[in-house]
Amino acid sequence: MFPPRHGIRATRRPLSTALAAALLALALCPVPATAAGPGRYDHRRCGNTSQRVLLTLDDWPYGDDGRAVRVGSYLHGRGIRAAFFLINAYAARRPDITATLRAQGHWVGNHSRSHRSLPELPERDAREEIRGGLPSTLLRPPYGRFGDRETRIAAALGYRICTWTVDTRDWEGTGGEFPGPAALRAGVRAAPAAAKRGGVVLGHLFTRFPEALPGIVDDLRSQGYGLCRSTGPTTSRIPYPLDC
Ligand SMILES: [Zn+2]
Repeated sequence: MFPPRHGIRATRRPLSTALAAALLALALCPVPATAAGPGRYDHRRCGNTSQRVLLTLDDWPYGDDGRAVRVGSYLHGRGIRAAFFLINAYAARRPDITATLRAQGHWVGNHSRSHRSLPELPERDAREEIRGGLPSTLLRPPYGRFGDRETRIAAALGYRICTWTVDTRDWEGTGGEFPGPAALRAGVRAAPAAAKRGGVVLGHLFTRFPEALPGIVDDLRSQGYGLCRSTGPTTSRIPYPLDC
């Protein structure tokens, strides 16, 4: 854009002008930046335009409802804001859990009413699955399955789609056993930098992912990554870009 120049003094003015223009564009642009720079919304990053990692926990802690708030408390204690995508068939019976997670500074998003694969449903049923989900502004479609139709339905109901950049595959057991904390930790540690920086890590409340979290948090920090920071209680409205 600029002709080659020599010396810092010569480039200072064009750079600051470019910076001002970029900031103005960011403020005015209806499509906010992704982690990779200004552009289209990237559902894998969920609006995380920071360089930090967003940890997400899905579904429900079957047989141990209190596990959700214990995980939330642990993360809060380490200054971390995570996102919980709860199946509303369970969460609606325990509104205190959603309220506590939000008071702990976490986001709680829509993961549908009953965790059916949305693209396989008639449009009316897909809409009802989203409408019957936990009210929020971020939708994680069950199994990460969605298409143009689901994006359109979600948008009409006030939702952005949110998937992930790092899948821990914590639900994928062998011999009826979920992977243990050491394996989950190693998987996140080895995930590509581009998937972690400004990325979104997927885990579940019913697996051994919560047990693996302390190691995962330690590893991410020792690898030089920040995690989304806890900055006080949240509401049902999850901001875009994310306040990480
Ligand atoms: Zn799920």
